[in-house]
Amino acid sequence: KAGLRVSIIGAGSAVFSMKIISDFCKVSSLSDSNIVLMDIDKTRVENVLVLAKELSQYFGAKLTFEIADTIKGAVEGSDFVINTAMAGGHGYLDLVRSIGEKHGYYRGIDAQNYNFVSDYLNLTNWNQMTLFLKIARTIEKYAPEAWYLQAANPVLEGTTLVSTQTGIKMVGFCHGHYGVEALAKFLGVSEYEWQVGGVNHGIWLTKFTTKEGKNLYEEIEKVAQNVKYEEFKPSNPFDDQLSPVAWEMYKMYGLFPVGDTVRNSTWKYHRNLETKIKWYGAPWGGADSEIGWKWYVEQLAQVVNVIDMFAKMLRSGVKINELKTGTPIDDYLKEILSEKLSGEQHVPFINSVVTNTPGRFVVNVLNNGKIKNVDNDVAVEICATVCGEKFEFEETHVPERIVNWYLKPRILLAKQALDAFLNKNVKLIADILERDPRTKSSEQVEKLISELYPIVIKKAKEIEEQE
Ligand code: NAD
Repeated sequence: KAGLRVSIIGAGSAVFSMKIISDFCKVSSLSDSNIVLMDIDKTRVENVLVLAKELSQYFGAKLTFEIADTIKGAVEGSDFVINTAMAGGHGYLDLVRSIGEKHGYYRGIDAQNYNFVSDYLNLTNWNQMTLFLKIARTIEKYAPEAWYLQAANPVLEGTTLVSTQTGIKMVGFCHGHYGVEALAKFLGVSEYEWQVGGVNHGIWLTKFTTKEGKNLYEEIEKVAQNVKYEEFKPSNPFDDQLSPVAWEMYKMYGLFPVGDTVRNSTWKYHRNLETKIKWYGAPWGGADSEIGWKWYVEQLAQVVNVIDMFAKMLRSGVKINELKTGTPIDDYLKEILSEKLSGEQHVPFINSVVTNTPGRFVVNVLNNGKIKNVDNDVAVEICATVCGEKFEFEETHVPERIVNWYLKPRILLAKQALDAFLNKNVKLIADILERDPRTKSSEQVEKLISELYPIVIKKAKEIEEQE
């Protein structure tokens, strides 16, 4: 179908939006789409609009753009709705985390076994989950045939929530599976077959062979016996695919953890900064330590400033390929302006759906028997070939050890978090905390809840009232 209408909610997330929009420019069958940008931050979304228009012109694409002020305005008439919004922004995450820390919960109460990613809150993110449901219900009402593509975290809880509470067509996407490339590079293999499976931020390398079918786990096993943990030196806080934790997880669970799965280990690796540094490497101790996360948030703030500057320069007549900062953002811009696709799956997925071109994707959808011994009513992350609206899911075998020691406890946490959210039941949150290794007394739990949850509830209400 020509002239798709695709809306991006949270479009002010400039890095993400520019990747998506440049992909639309590069995929010729979609380069006449109408892109609707929606964000509560007017400055950010207007900056993105300036960049987007220039980008379309640069590629000779025929994209058209509009800004929508409301969710309804964005959704109505859309064929696809992409959600990358983060209710409350990084300020809310920091606030929640600091209240948790004040009451003795290092890195906040959302930091739990198998869930340490710092912008993946599931116990206090009632505003974000309210936003997910709000967008989904707006789609149900005003664009019931539209696809909802979820990029915003938490993808596991969000996909499960929307897919069980509404009847819309939905997929959750993450780019975590690219971790396989780092592992392959390390092993010195350039051509290989791979498959991952599990839940979002909890995926495992279920197949890894050469093109001829030789099992590359033989190579992993050889290295695992001799790997020297003390030699691991990460290049940035997110460089953890080959960290000591990844190798330990491989030895414990029997398959290699991929992408952010490495961050989602247990308290053994996260107890305090010293422990994190030991396992995720110096100096940051991984992305989710107080140092690693600060590094990330500072980078994001820098990006927002640069985008602001770029928009001003473009408005004054500078061409997009002449923009320069002398920072790593120049490399990012160069990539956007190259012919290569961004690696985000959204636009190739839309292309496969719309043009009946088969494509292989890693998708988050309700399990319904796809991974054995895992609940049916929870979202799993799995490889599938998509052609039109048909999904062909790959048979994925996740060993019992991973199912019982990793996936089931992580899924249980997701279900408990969703139960507390859907019933707005603070007592359930208190009960989760009573089982938390950081809790010393019920009084500690009560004090924390009475300071934190009025804020959580108020912020969720604000989203409910948003148009
Ligand atoms: P951010 O805060 O910089 O950007 C999010 C945007 O959402 C902002 O422009 C903000 O104004 C907007 N927003 C906030 N509340 C809104 C509302 N109620 N309605 C409309 N827009 C609203 O955050 P970020 O760091 O860019 O992350 C965005 C999301 O993407 C997060 O949930 C993050 O965890 C997720 N993420 C996902 C992946 C993935 O592969 N799935 C990768 C990285 C980040």
